[in-house]
Amino acid sequence: MHPADLLVVTCPACAAGAEWLRTHEPRAVVPATIHRHASQDGWFRLYAPAAWADEGQLAAITGKYLFFSPDRAALIGLAGVELAQYGFPAAKVPYQRAGSAYVLCLYAPDASRKRELADRLADYRAQWSEASLEYRYWKSNDATLAGQYSAQFLRSRRR
Ligand SMILES: [Zn+2]
Repeated sequence: MHPADLLVVTCPACAAGAEWLRTHEPRAVVPATIHRHASQDGWFRLYAPAAWADEGQLAAITGKYLFFSPDRAALIGLAGVELAQYGFPAAKVPYQRAGSAYVLCLYAPDASRKRELADRLADYRAQWSEASLEYRYWKSNDATLAGQYSAQFLRSRRR
């Protein structure tokens, strides 16, 4: 076992996250090495152990690949495979559905793996044939712009 994998076993956030999965998405399958955190900000989050142990990997994220499905368990399963087998650092799905589908944000340092994910989508669609999986490619976090907005927001709140 990789040393970082041990963090999952002793992680208090993972204990709460596993309980959320058991009660909300019992059909979702997540590899045992992946952190599963029921965050307080509206999102259930998954982290690869190496990324959770290394702030640099999380800081290198500039955006996300987006998947949609009414079947949240399928999205969580897809994220678990990508984090455990293909080196993606983190992912999230919301507690509340927006419209008819849930969104899966699969985080990455850049958009270079767009094609590779499209190639694997056929396998995921075969595995979860009822899930109507949709793939909407890459969306930049645009962190600079977000930072400007939040600074403006804070200034406006102080007036
Ligand atoms: Zn954890």
